[in-house]
Amino acid sequence: MSKVLVIGCGGVASVAIHKCCQVSEVFTELCIASRTKSKCDKLAAELAPKTATKITTAQVDADDVQQVIDLIRSFQPDLVMNIALPYQDLTIMDACLACGVNYMDTANYEPEDTDDPEWRAVYEKRCEEAGFSAYFDYSWQWAYRKKFEEAGLTALLGCGFDPGVTQAYCAYAKKHEFDSIDTIDILDCNGGDHGYAFATNFNPEVNLREVSAPGSYWENGRWVEIPAMSIKRQYDFDQVGQKDMYLLHHEEIESLALNIPEVKRIRFFMTFGQSYLDHMRCLEDVGMLSTVPVEFEGQQIVPIKFLKALLPDPASLGPRTKGKTNIGCIFTGKKDGKEKTYYIYNVCDHQACFHEVGSQAVSYTTGVPAMCGALMLLTGQWKKTGVYTVEEFDPDPFLEALDQYGLPKNESWNPVLVK
Ligand code: NDP
Repeated sequence: MSKVLVIGCGGVASVAIHKCCQVSEVFTELCIASRTKSKCDKLAAELAPKTATKITTAQVDADDVQQVIDLIRSFQPDLVMNIALPYQDLTIMDACLACGVNYMDTANYEPEDTDDPEWRAVYEKRCEEAGFSAYFDYSWQWAYRKKFEEAGLTALLGCGFDPGVTQAYCAYAKKHEFDSIDTIDILDCNGGDHGYAFATNFNPEVNLREVSAPGSYWENGRWVEIPAMSIKRQYDFDQVGQKDMYLLHHEEIESLALNIPEVKRIRFFMTFGQSYLDHMRCLEDVGMLSTVPVEFEGQQIVPIKFLKALLPDPASLGPRTKGKTNIGCIFTGKKDGKEKTYYIYNVCDHQACFHEVGSQAVSYTTGVPAMCGALMLLTGQWKKTGVYTVEEFDPDPFLEALDQYGLPKNESWNPVLVK
């Protein structure tokens, strides 16, 4: 019996909300709140006849702490699920603290305006000290640890698939398969085809920023940064086939390096087709990925926001996307003094997701873990006060919930390793 406030009503939130409504005995009341209320109303109307969960909706600008506080005070939830954008992480965390409510999200904080001088000064210092230059990192949210602990509240960070399930896979490997882990390769393969020459599978701004940034990996206790897309490998993915994949910086590497300190190397690879890469490079070269406003015919326009308006809405890709995703982690390490390897992954079918919840697999593989993370917090299976990433909790009940609610794991004890 719990009341949950979901902030955001985009691709990922829509899946999470569908899944919450399948578990009405836990998610008894949901309030869907977002910037555009009409989207919340549409989803609520679609779900109401099919679920016992009581759904209400609200308008909120989550960049404004006071608006979030007012909404929390009026709805009185047990948990706030932030499935808006990473830009709102800190304002929503502040509101949760002010109201004494638990918090969770699916991506770590990054600012909307990367030219903000105050943020920039902190960022440049961090680049120098930590050795990676991605705009997002955990430092902003880890700074809330003491506040959440003192308030007796939990903040669960990054509970999608990657970050999220990938960290649960690491915790699971550490708990059941290894005495010590030497290397982790996180492999994110999207073998889906939507038929467009260029489209992003989730929020274009967030996605294009991530992909066009320098890559980096963790090795022997430090970050190694490389030019964007400069490390390419091929991998033959179960149920998808051979794909090109590229080394990217990814947020969970940062927390895994901290929480599994014996690991010598952590890398993250994502598959991309040539058409996607060609379009992205061209858009970057002409300045369309910039977040700096330009004056155009008397108006201020942010190029990447304008690009977002031109690109297909990720939520509209569902009916068109065919094929599967395959996301997981390959480990090397030792058990009982012997070297061993282990691969744990999920395969998800775009069309099956669309038929179940009306979304493609990229939103599905993020929204289902968000619901399962909320389930862990609401049922007390994950119970710690403070600010935590997924690998800091017991992976077993979470992976059982994923098995049950649509993202079952596959395992191999003899995987092909990535060179
Ligand atoms: P969308 O752009 O589809 O949806 C974002 C939603 O947030 C929209 O409903 C939007 O409202 C709302 N929103 C944006 N700004 C505000 C605001 N100021 N106040 C209130 N609501 C706001 O994004 P996705 O669903 O693709 O992604 C959601 C989150 O999931 C992102 O943080 C993304 O980084 C993360 N993600 C995580 C993954 C993982 O594996 N961990 C993978 C993929 C995504 P409006 O409709 O008005 O625009």
